Amino acid sequence: MNFELSTEQQSLRRLVRDVVEKEVKPLARHTDETGEFPWGPLRTMAGLGLLGLNVPEQYDGAGADHVSAAILVEEIGRGCGSTGLIVAAHLGLACGPLNKFGAEEQKLLYLNPLARGEVIGCLGLTEPGAGSDLAGGVRTLAEKRGDAWVINGSKMWLTNGAEAKTAILLCRTDKAGGSRSLSQIIVPTDAPGITFGKPEKKMGLNGSHTYAVSLENVTVPLENVLGREGYGLHQTLEALDGGRIAIGALSVGLAQAAYEASLAYAKERTTFGKPIAEHQAIQTKIADMATTIEAARWLVYRAAWLRDQGQPFTLLAAQAKLFATEIAEKVCYDAIQIHGGYGYSREYPVERIYRDNRLMAIGEGTSEIQRMVIARLVLA
Ligand SMILES: Cc1cc2nc3c(=O)[nH]c(=O)nc-3n(C[C@H](O)[C@H](O)[C@H](O)COP(=O)(O)OP(=O)(O)OC[C@H]3O[C@@H](n4cnc5c(N)ncnc54)[C@H](O)[C@@H]3O)c2cc1C
Repeated sequence: MNFELSTEQQSLRRLVRDVVEKEVKPLARHTDETGEFPWGPLRTMAGLGLLGLNVPEQYDGAGADHVSAAILVEEIGRGCGSTGLIVAAHLGLACGPLNKFGAEEQKLLYLNPLARGEVIGCLGLTEPGAGSDLAGGVRTLAEKRGDAWVINGSKMWLTNGAEAKTAILLCRTDKAGGSRSLSQIIVPTDAPGITFGKPEKKMGLNGSHTYAVSLENVTVPLENVLGREGYGLHQTLEALDGGRIAIGALSVGLAQAAYEASLAYAKERTTFGKPIAEHQAIQTKIADMATTIEAARWLVYRAAWLRDQGQPFTLLAAQAKLFATEIAEKVCYDAIQIHGGYGYSREYPVERIYRDNRLMAIGEGTSEIQRMVIARLVLA
């Protein structure tokens, strides 16, 4: 592995950073406080081809590698967690599985508009009774009637749900159960019978809307099954491997933002006659932040690089997500500590970043699940 980013990856970082500094970061506080969906920056990113960054050019994407996609999400996360999660879900959970498992006609119909950024996508796995345990818990039923699937059930926590035009839903297609009883089905979100609730009220990530959705006799053609019927669980786990790299990258970006805010504050705030940056207890925190963020960043890039090489990356993706999300929690905690009382107020960005990062150790597989995956693979 090359320990330097390529020229293309470095210029991508500069391009994204420029957009983020101009359009994403200045809006982050407003997005958090109002819960408005950040369509403006998303349209700019769509215009630059960033919403299809790692989709092949033949499907209207930019054809970049997965390391580039990690850099994209990291840099957006450095400016705004909500916008970062919207893009991570769109690219990793919607474009990713469509590109990997979609038939040619499905890609032309659904992937191309997603990659052009004309519409955004989402992936619905979780249900009121199914989160970590998808295999046993998914109850949403898709039944074959004539030449259509008729879907009934409900999904929870759908990131991008009502803003998305295309959803990939994990459904039970064989009532008998077992590991081949689930399938992924592509469902347009304006199909009759789909009802989204109001965006959930959350601790953070307020601009990234999360929905419960009910499905009542939602009817889509049989050919909307994505990949192979009965292989939905397997395909979902593969999609999550990719999604976990993106969540790791998002945490690296959030941690970087908290760290940069802390550096600036530590140099400016004085106590006992000198900037707090000159107190050793503050320096220790800064040193730990700088070191753990750098380690997390390269673990994320390594997982993405393995994926680019076509090598197995499940282990590295789980390790990258686990490590990055957990060190980011500590970095954000310390960032608030460095800011003292101001860190706890909404005047400074670190309390928002702390709230935004809290999801990262839960979504796309909790830390407990990552540890199970890692232990299973290293013990095998
Ligand atoms: C803001 C937000 C956005 C989300 N976006 C999406 C989305 O776009 N699409 C989607 O499908 N889902 C989404 N989710 C759902 C998310 O992926 C789930 O919340 C997550 O997978 C955990 O599932 P759960 O909440 O049902 O927790 P549970 O599975 O009920 O777990 C509860 C606790 O038990 C632990 N646990 C469970 N099983 C074990 C075990 N075997 N051993 C040890 N500990 C265990 C868990 O780690 C956790 O600590 C989102 C959630 C949130 C909050």
